[in-house]
Amino acid sequence: MNSSDARVCVDGISVSPHHFIAGQRITSEHSFEVRSPLDWNMKLADVSRGDEQTADLAVSAAIEGYKVWSNLSQPERNDILFKLSDLIDANAGEIAAIECLDMAMLLESLKLRVIPRGALNFRHYAEFIADHQERKWSSKGTINRVIRHSAGPAVVITPWNAPFMLATWKVAPALAAGNSVILKPAEWAPLSASLLADFINEAGFPEGAFNIVQGLGQEIGTALVTDSRVRRISFTGSPETGRIIGVSAAKNLVPFTAELGGKGALIVFADADINAAAKKAAAQFEDSGQVCLAGTRLLVESSVKSEFMEQFAHYTDQHVYGDSRNPETTLSAAIHPIHLERVEGFVERARNAGDTIVFGGERFEPGKLWYKPTLIEPASNDSEVIQKEIFGPVLTIQTFDSEPEAVDLANSTAYGLSGIVYTSDARRAERVGRAVRAGTVWVNSFLVRDLTAPFGGFGISGIGREGGDYALDFHSDLQTLQILEGSVH
Ligand code: NAD
Repeated sequence: MNSSDARVCVDGISVSPHHFIAGQRITSEHSFEVRSPLDWNMKLADVSRGDEQTADLAVSAAIEGYKVWSNLSQPERNDILFKLSDLIDANAGEIAAIECLDMAMLLESLKLRVIPRGALNFRHYAEFIADHQERKWSSKGTINRVIRHSAGPAVVITPWNAPFMLATWKVAPALAAGNSVILKPAEWAPLSASLLADFINEAGFPEGAFNIVQGLGQEIGTALVTDSRVRRISFTGSPETGRIIGVSAAKNLVPFTAELGGKGALIVFADADINAAAKKAAAQFEDSGQVCLAGTRLLVESSVKSEFMEQFAHYTDQHVYGDSRNPETTLSAAIHPIHLERVEGFVERARNAGDTIVFGGERFEPGKLWYKPTLIEPASNDSEVIQKEIFGPVLTIQTFDSEPEAVDLANSTAYGLSGIVYTSDARRAERVGRAVRAGTVWVNSFLVRDLTAPFGGFGISGIGREGGDYALDFHSDLQTLQILEGSVH
């Protein structure tokens, strides 16, 4: 491992393909190749492939960084977080361009919504912690106070969808709480996070307070989560990986939070605005369906199925597939050939098992990574396409005849990340909203979020909650300090 300022030029933007440890770019002997889903012949970079030694170096750096960072005052830390937030805003165009090439998310949406939200995460947590009021009360003759202590180095491991925003969403509360961070982005889309490292020194972080390492999950990911010096593990990804990391966290007795996969229901009652529901259902195909919160199981009241289907087909037909840099494009490519083959596998197995492919079920062009919006009517609720997360532009449709039946169907998978309900009846909105077992349920809306609200999953969709105080509490060691009243002056 050496330090190296060598960078690669990706579509006119200079990016470091190396780790960022203790304020320096560090190389590894081995690398892994990153290609663009927009054109698989377009190689973007050979990225440093971290190993046990890299993880050891990063954790050691984070321990040293923690000593300095946690000893700064909260206003000093907040100033640095605000600066980082400003730098992200000022460079949002470049970050968006890299992320678009890296994972094929739509460029306009990245520029206008997703990357600015990344900047907001840092600003929000700095403001939020500044407003924090220590809890204080009198009981049994003592004054009780709850003190939040920082915990130490936190490992943050993130997935390849919306990688920049999701990383900042997890890193910001860790830093605001006074912890140092080692971020490991996903190997299929590692470049936008690498740009983040460019701003860390400029924002004024002490060396080692915020480190970024690159590499494969089974290699450097394993080395990071098994290191007993790590004091928090914050993970977003699949339930399969969540289980593996959870075992390491348990062995070291390290608090662990996991945001995992989803299989959300989008429920349409006959009393709903059917046009709005159909439009939102068709929007679930955006970003190639690679959205954990997507409402992928359409549950439609039987009496309005044909009206819904007509409008849903109309909005689905309006989608435009193509290069995500083109403002007209609404359907992006799948992240990786391996991922698309996985999606195709689900559809083929559904076909062979007797489910009905209502439309789609194939690529737009052979050899390219764009898959047609696909709708499947399952032969039964046990079908694999109902019970497993596909993470592609594949929705299912089922009908119901009563409210309890809709709720039963919505709650019939092991997941519980999100739910969407369309109804115009306020009492029903309340009843069904509460009855759907999911961490977030939207009624007549989707993806609008308040950053102070708890976010997480029921069932196999996750452990713990992020957002607002929930994330700050996770990243803190909470202490009760009790002093006998009148005993100190
Ligand atoms: P993944 O679980 O394959 O990988 C996620 C991250 O974990 C990557 O950085 C990977 O390198 C790392 N990793 C893999 N194996 C590891 C190991 N043994 N030890 C340590 N780290 C390891 O997930 P993915 O394919 O990148 O992402 C898609 C999944 O993420 C989907 O299930 C999706 O629903 C979920 N997701 C959930 C949310 C949420 O907020 N709940 C958000 C986005 C994505």
